[in-house]
Amino acid sequence: MAGYLGDKSNMVVHHLAMMKPECKIYHVKKADRVYFVPDTLDQSISEKFVTCKYCSGGPI
Ligand SMILES: [Zn+2]
Repeated sequence: MAGYLGDKSNMVVHHLAMMKPECKIYHVKKADRVYFVPDTLDQSISEKFVTCKYCSGGPI
């Protein structure tokens, strides 16, 4: 299972193990879902994603 999920519609990355109802991950369209290789927060940030404030401790 992936550790992180990116939402391309708003460029926010979620930490799946820490996700909250506020993340609304189930509302992210399949076409907007992005996984990272390697599956790390650093990789998502290098791909211009910002961390979700609910599950990843970020500002957004
Ligand atoms: Zn989140």
